[in-house]
Amino acid sequence: MVAVKDLLKRYNASNKHVVIIGNGISGITCARNIRKKSDFCITVISAETAYHFSRTALMYIYMGHLRYEDTKPYEDGFWNKNKINLLNRYITKVESSTKTLHLSNGEIFSYDILIIASGSKPNKFGWLGQDLKCVQGLYSFQDLQLLEENTKNAKQAVIVGGGLIGVELAEMLNSRNIEVTFLVREKHFWDKVMPVQEAKLIEKHIKEHHINLKLESELQEILSDENGKVKAITTKLGETITCQFVGLTVGVSPNISFLNGSEIKTDKGILVNEYFETNIKDVYAIGDCAQFTTVIKGRRAIEQVWYTGRMHGETLAHSLTVIKTNYNPGHWFNSAKFFDIEYQTYGNVPSIIADPFNSFYWEHPVGKMCIRVVYNLQTHVFIGINAFGIRMRHEVFNRWLVEGKEISYVMEHLAEANFDPEFFVRYETEINLKFKKEIVVL
Ligand SMILES: Cc1cc2nc3c(=O)[nH]c(=O)nc-3n(C[C@H](O)[C@H](O)[C@H](O)COP(=O)(O)OP(=O)(O)OC[C@H]3O[C@@H](n4cnc5c(N)ncnc54)[C@H](O)[C@@H]3O)c2cc1C
Repeated sequence: MVAVKDLLKRYNASNKHVVIIGNGISGITCARNIRKKSDFCITVISAETAYHFSRTALMYIYMGHLRYEDTKPYEDGFWNKNKINLLNRYITKVESSTKTLHLSNGEIFSYDILIIASGSKPNKFGWLGQDLKCVQGLYSFQDLQLLEENTKNAKQAVIVGGGLIGVELAEMLNSRNIEVTFLVREKHFWDKVMPVQEAKLIEKHIKEHHINLKLESELQEILSDENGKVKAITTKLGETITCQFVGLTVGVSPNISFLNGSEIKTDKGILVNEYFETNIKDVYAIGDCAQFTTVIKGRRAIEQVWYTGRMHGETLAHSLTVIKTNYNPGHWFNSAKFFDIEYQTYGNVPSIIADPFNSFYWEHPVGKMCIRVVYNLQTHVFIGINAFGIRMRHEVFNRWLVEGKEISYVMEHLAEANFDPEFFVRYETEINLKFKKEIVVL
């Protein structure tokens, strides 16, 4: 292990020392962009893995499609070559009055500028039995290793919580022929985010993969066997389900407990302004752990997705090395995969579409593809789109959103946005026929 004092000797003390906590997408993007534009000393301290890896690819390691090595976007030599120090340690305390960090092995580390990019941790809501053996969340590389261990002999599993990580975990367990029961508290799958028609399409698809999806079903308790290992769960409706593994996937929250007792202001996350500045001078926060005090219209106070972490990192690096720049992420977009169905969303598609918005919905008869286009009823301006099973171009929709195109323009030019591979069947003609039949206001 590199000793902190040796590591610091490598650098010219006259350069500012930027220390980043966390080697996830936001911390690493920030480090790379600071390096591109400055000769600051840069140290990234992270506890999870020695090198940055793609968290979104965790599922593919479990399913045997990738090895851990394949999920590292940079070769191990990249960091030395670019003079970015990596320290694989856990920080227990931040002391901003002395600009020092306390590491778990007792070492103390000083900084000129501190960037906290400590990410998220899986939520637990105090259920009885939540700390039993073979009960876990899925976030970190260590969680993945634990999952390997915990599912070795499992024949039946229960997943609690119907979001994106829950559906990934269902696919992972399914790939090992483990019988999965998936408890979703809401009336429909991910219905806080998706309109009901899309939710139903995904529910059908999940069930087709032999997942026992139980809607409006909430965890009551996790039951133990005589060895402290899960043997079953009960639901609030009084049902008992036998299982040897429980996955808790009820969302994530900022991983900031190491800041308890520090002077850095926190709420759910670390409170920052539009420049990622905290209440303490020279201390910044980015990525999943940051919470904006002023929320940009149409965005969230805490953004917990990959591309926003990257944008946070880029913006802060620009501020620190070129010119102070506020975070201006533009229109929302996101993508995910529900088993075989790819999902993309651009702009604003509320789960309940109400005045002043209206939407047009098309679904393929086989029920594996659909689009929903949202527009303003008064101005007819295009507001956002959900696409399932049809790949769309981000750049095209972003342009249409920026230019304030009307819904009729978007529908006429839909083919321009299609990004499906060559020889895929195209549906723009039938989508437009349905649109013209239904949307007569224009
Ligand atoms: C299974 C899974 C699938 C996902 N899929 C998608 C997807 O398809 N699309 C998408 O947009 N998003 C996805 N996400 C979310 C996305 O991965 C996160 O939003 C993103 O990785 C957050 O990046 P980050 O840099 O803010 O933090 P993280 O990636 O969490 O990195 C923070 C790092 O800081 C370290 N750390 C924390 N505290 C300390 C400390 N005190 N000392 C030292 N180190 C510390 C942590 O160990 C961690 O390694 C997924 C998440 C998971 C878990």
